[in-house]
Amino acid sequence: MKVKIIAGSIIMIGLISGCGRIEETLLNESPESKQSLESSSIPVHSSSIETLTPEEEQQIKEKKERQAMLDELPDVSVADWNLILVNNSKLIDPSLKLPLTTLPNGYMIDERIKEDYDKWLEKASEAGFEMVLVSSYRSVDLQQKNYDASIQRYLDQNYTQEEAVSLTEDYIAIPRGSEHHTGLAVDIVDSEWLKTGKGLIPEYDTQDSQKWLLENMEKYGFILRFPRGKEEETGIEYESWHFRYVGVENANYIKKYNLSLEEYIELLKDAGK
Ligand SMILES: [Zn+2]
Repeated sequence: MKVKIIAGSIIMIGLISGCGRIEETLLNESPESKQSLESSSIPVHSSSIETLTPEEEQQIKEKKERQAMLDELPDVSVADWNLILVNNSKLIDPSLKLPLTTLPNGYMIDERIKEDYDKWLEKASEAGFEMVLVSSYRSVDLQQKNYDASIQRYLDQNYTQEEAVSLTEDYIAIPRGSEHHTGLAVDIVDSEWLKTGKGLIPEYDTQDSQKWLLENMEKYGFILRFPRGKEEETGIEYESWHFRYVGVENANYIKKYNLSLEEYIELLKDAGK
């Protein structure tokens, strides 16, 4: 919007501008839009017509965008089982009982996500990608072992204790801080990639299978949990292989607005959900 119009000044503008078109636009302005301008926190000056500063325009744009985002939030609650948030600053309650189911390869996931997960991988297979699950549910004890082993590996490479911990925590959550404790997270790569022995590295995203997973994940309720550019919010470096189940409507929303799970949960809380 280039011109700001103050409601109630219609006649005045007509007189000053003598421009029928402006007047017409004004008269057609909906009561809601007048309302939103009046209730806006942006300072209203006494002149009846003026050009907005770029900052004011930006503020209005951001406010509208945020309102649109809030209006579009699905009818869910942060207390829903599929929105459990676990990270290095929000540790899981170890007494939480999970309905786990064991997959043919011995890995366990929450049984409530199995149907969507199976469908997703089945579709991937139809698209020509043979996906392999390399990690899913992990107990707190196992996380502790992985965490300690990683620190030890760095120490063996002559890093200091502090460096070893820091490097470990770039990729490995602290025990009780791993999303793998929820049974809702899966690390998946394709069988070809696995054969290269490169393991779980960001460059897995050069594979067509990963692109396919990204393009289709929300249809089956999954999100890429640690996207590039969201490291500050998630506290974890980009992981091209780690997907998290949140349910279809949450996944659609998160993907559409390019949010981290942390940002999404905050938004839901702001909306009182
Ligand atoms: Zn993972």
